[in-house]
Amino acid sequence: MSDCIFCRIASHEIPSKKVYEDDLIYSFYDLDPQAPVHVLIIPKKHIASLDEAGPEDAELLAHMMLKIKEIAALLELEKGYRVVFNTGEDGGQTVKHLHAHLLGKRSMNWPPG
Ligand code: 5GP
Ligand code: ZN
Repeated sequence: MSDCIFCRIASHEIPSKKVYEDDLIYSFYDLDPQAPVHVLIIPKKHIASLDEAGPEDAELLAHMMLKIKEIAALLELEKGYRVVFNTGEDGGQTVKHLHAHLLGKRSMNWPPG
């Protein structure tokens, strides 16, 4: 989608600080980090949110989840990390392209704000 900022980042049209990339997903550092390590993981396919994902996306989402674990290891988050999918208005989603936040290198609070 040409008017989607994350589609444009995934296609390298908008520059970003890359962490990992393969045929299906792209991972890059968040512009406004909320932890010492804060990266985003997105599918290259435009899916507006988790709510918009369907059974046809099952393999892609499974791939994404398992790669998040590998990216966490790559970033040396051996003490733990948090993975967040903000979804919809109440979920605090601002960019309408499905993405996972991977946060680490600090202790997280619960419940989240
Ligand atoms: P959301 O609030 O939708 O869950 O998360 C969107 C995230 O994308 C925010 O943490 C925000 O800082 C990040 N973000 C928005 N625009 C850009 C951008 O152009 N580049 C990068 N690297 N991050 C972005
Ligand atoms: Zn998109």
